[in-house]
Amino acid sequence: MKLELKNSLSVKLLRVVLLSALIVGVVLSCAQIVYDAYKTRQAVATDAERILDMFRDPSTQAVYSLDREMGMQVIEGLFQDKAVRMASIGHPNETLLAEKTRDLKPSPTRWLTDPILGQERSFTTQLVGRSPYSEYYGDLRITLDTATYGEGFLINSMIIFISGVLRALAMGLVLYLVYHWLLTKPLSRIIEHLTSINPDRPSEHQLPLLKGHEKNELGIWVNTANELLASIERNTHLRHEAESSLLRMAQYDFLTGLPNRQQLQQQLDKILIDAGRVQHRVAVLCVGLDDFKGINEQFSYQAGDQLLLALADLLRSHSGRLGALARLGGDQFALVQADIEQPYEAAELAQNILDDLEAPFAVDGQEIRLRATIGITLFPEDGDSTEKLLQKAEQTMTLAKTRSRNRYQFYIASVDSEMRRRRELEKDLREALVRNQFHLVYQPQISYRDQRVVGVEALIRWTHPEHGFVPPDQFIPLAEQNGTIIAIGEWVLDQACKQLREWHDQGFTDLRMAVNLSTVQLHHSELPRVVNNLLQIYRLPPRSLELEVTETGLMEDISTAAQHLLSLRRSGALIAIDDFGTGYSSLSYLKSLPLDKIKIDKSFVQDLIDDDDDATIVRAIIQLGKSLGMQVIAEGVETAEQEAYIISEGCHEGQGYFYSKPLPARELLAYLKQAQRTHIGVL
Ligand code: C2E
Ligand code: MG
Ligand code: MG
Repeated sequence: MKLELKNSLSVKLLRVVLLSALIVGVVLSCAQIVYDAYKTRQAVATDAERILDMFRDPSTQAVYSLDREMGMQVIEGLFQDKAVRMASIGHPNETLLAEKTRDLKPSPTRWLTDPILGQERSFTTQLVGRSPYSEYYGDLRITLDTATYGEGFLINSMIIFISGVLRALAMGLVLYLVYHWLLTKPLSRIIEHLTSINPDRPSEHQLPLLKGHEKNELGIWVNTANELLASIERNTHLRHEAESSLLRMAQYDFLTGLPNRQQLQQQLDKILIDAGRVQHRVAVLCVGLDDFKGINEQFSYQAGDQLLLALADLLRSHSGRLGALARLGGDQFALVQADIEQPYEAAELAQNILDDLEAPFAVDGQEIRLRATIGITLFPEDGDSTEKLLQKAEQTMTLAKTRSRNRYQFYIASVDSEMRRRRELEKDLREALVRNQFHLVYQPQISYRDQRVVGVEALIRWTHPEHGFVPPDQFIPLAEQNGTIIAIGEWVLDQACKQLREWHDQGFTDLRMAVNLSTVQLHHSELPRVVNNLLQIYRLPPRSLELEVTETGLMEDISTAAQHLLSLRRSGALIAIDDFGTGYSSLSYLKSLPLDKIKIDKSFVQDLIDDDDDATIVRAIIQLGKSLGMQVIAEGVETAEQEAYIISEGCHEGQGYFYSKPLPARELLAYLKQAQRTHIGVL
């Protein structure tokens, strides 16, 4: 709040002091003036007395001798005095001996002084002979005009009045300055400091002790106010602490320090909003301990608490992958995985937790094994709100416990069985190689220049002992995840090269072998050495091996991919880019990578007859490949129309069911031989 000058204390004081000084000044001046009036009236009488005294004797003389001339002389003498207006000598019962009158003095102040002093005043003295006769002869009578006295009186009064008022003004001013200096100014400084005080930290800026006011009331006031501010701050601090500990108590679990259900709900609300925006999945895992009641009873509640603490720590160790972690109460915990892409990520986390629990906890010198059952719900599939996801995850967990324990369970049965199958496959995949469950099939690639089979693509097959044929699209990503792809890939390369050697030996000396490489393999530093070795071992001409890398795999890290491709190419092998058109195809990266061949993805080829867009894309890819000096092969050619189109657009090669499905080695040999005989020839 800004102080207005008119409200300032000093100005108010100035007003009050001035007014009272003025009143006092005026009253005192008036009293003095009244007194002065009285004195002036007396002065008139005294003057008259003096004049009468002075002229008594000559007047007596004149009246005694009845000398009119002398009488007139005396009267003239009297009239020397300006104040005398009328003078007469004579016996009251006879005609006057001498008499003179003059007009009243015209004075502008008469109207003011006449009421006070009277217009004129008459004085008489008796004219008496000398003693012993002391005979009475008559009277000397004078009338004095008060105008002259009035003027003097008025001037005096004016001086008294003005000096009185001036004195009052000067007093007021001095008082104002003193007051301003001693009070208003220091008060204003204090006010200025008070306004800059931060209400949250009131004692941060203490009020300054004003110089010269350390010991007076102001100094004491400042000190007291500072103490007050400090204690306010102490109180606020205490209140904040109390509030935050209340908040902690309301939002965190007392035992483990993890967020409680309420806090989790808030966190999950936010996570779901974000995930909904970017269209990602969220997994909610409800972890319930199996038979925690039994543990509490068998050991002690303290041991139970320690176990819960240890479990909380264990769950915390996964927090890098978690969006939220909370204790729901009792023996139940909730984990939220934000921004996942596939349900298996949740399955993996659940399995990791179950695996972690395999190791017993040491409590009070005893080893205790904990087991847990985990219910999993997925956003958006199983629910779009925090309440639904949490509730269903808890339900799923409880339900799972009734069946069998120490496992995880997805809310949706199909997801659950898929996850189970995935896990099983992943486990079996580790064994598949040594158990000889893989074999390769080969699909011919036809050159349109001379209608000959110029190459084959090796495609892996897995025959699972229970599930039978598992398509590579399903198990290759699993193998990439658990790292087995390296060994599997090397096995594929070895098999394919060995097979090619065989076919070369059987007369198909120019046949080329295309082998798919996973991105994980591509970034494995051993790969160029492996390829070189195989080419040498099987004495294969380098350009008879073609390595297929997928477009999306390359895009993840173009510069490293380019390096690795270069070192692969040094072995002489050809590099083809597989599934072209499905990723972020861009000219600039195509140019920066050492590529020999483009494989148009089958999705475009399959629809090109019905879909003009796909036909355009296929044409554009062919043009692009050719302009960059690369070979172009179309995969997934199934019909003569498709073949006709790509040939008309200038595509170099084709591969697909139209020519042959992928075939086991022996059948492919038959195919090659057959082709040699019919219209499709082999060199
Ligand atoms: P890809 O390399 O694009 O292989 C072509 C896929 O298309 C093969 O599926 C093949 O059987 C199929 N195909 C060929 N012609 C036609 C056709 O006319 N119509 C249709 N609809 N499909 C056709 P497959 O054998 O199931 O392989 C799928 C993917 O698995 C392969 O795609 C490749 O990315 C991967 N893969 C296969 N074998 C290996 C391998 O040994 N190593 C690696 N890393 N990946 C492999
Ligand atoms: Mg391929
Ligand atoms: Mg492909």
